[in-house]
Amino acid sequence: MLPWLMPYQVQLTTLVTKSNLAHAILFTGPEGVGKTKLADWLIANLLCTNSDIQHNPCQQCKSCLLRKAGNHADLLIIDASSSSIGVDAVRQITRFMQSTAQQQHKKVVLLANAERLTEAAANALLKTLEEPPENGYLILLSAYSARLSATLLSRLQAWPLPAQFDQNAAQWLAQHSNRVVPDFLLSYCSGGPLKALDLLESGKADAIQLSLSSLEHYFFGEQSQQETVKQLLATEQVAGILGFYLRKTFMPQLLQLNAERIPLAHQYYIRWCRDEQQILGQNKSLALSGLLTDLRRLCL
Ligand SMILES: [Zn+2]
Repeated sequence: MLPWLMPYQVQLTTLVTKSNLAHAILFTGPEGVGKTKLADWLIANLLCTNSDIQHNPCQQCKSCLLRKAGNHADLLIIDASSSSIGVDAVRQITRFMQSTAQQQHKKVVLLANAERLTEAAANALLKTLEEPPENGYLILLSAYSARLSATLLSRLQAWPLPAQFDQNAAQWLAQHSNRVVPDFLLSYCSGGPLKALDLLESGKADAIQLSLSSLEHYFFGEQSQQETVKQLLATEQVAGILGFYLRKTFMPQLLQLNAERIPLAHQYYIRWCRDEQQILGQNKSLALSGLLTDLRRLCL
């Protein structure tokens, strides 16, 4: 288990042991903090019929083997890869919860990206949560729990997994990668070490670092706009990189220089983000050049 999740593992174990675990749980926290890992462990713990004295899943009983094969009849994993989760998915959850358990007495549903529930789906889910079956557990995951309705949140027991920025997380990253961990990386990943590891191992962290220094050079007049735009567009994460640079470097500098222009800088960035999403076939290079010009003008 990830070291920063161990205290949660201990607490959850105590609740499971005492049969005090809430029937609807929400793991929240930044992307890459380990919500899925903790949920997977909890599911294994709930479904194992032969767990040891510390309540660790045995990984060998019929239930564990079925789960590992992705074939457990008492586990429903809702595919949350699409942009929204509709009422059909919730109906599936309700039917599943109402049916009788096959292997043993517990049934578990895992719903990732819960913020993607449509309003109608969230309302339908509330009905299921009103009378949860004695043996049913619903585990929701979300990196954006603020987008969930207050009513839905009030029915869930939330477990906020805090962002990891400290020395321990940096050390964990260094231990799990042969690459040098850049200082900005954990902050760039909003404190999600697994996301940071992924960016590091895939080489994307290098491209992000290059883009960040490209922006720095551009705003100091040391690099052409054309080159900066080219560098940024070569990454898949232009909006993320720009947002991070603005938040961490540009805005603090502008605050010293000309604080009343900060809202304008925000406005330019938000307008660019909106156009990026909404205007199909937009000339990306031209739009980005426009944004950089506007932002640089604010520093003059
Ligand atoms: Zn087992």
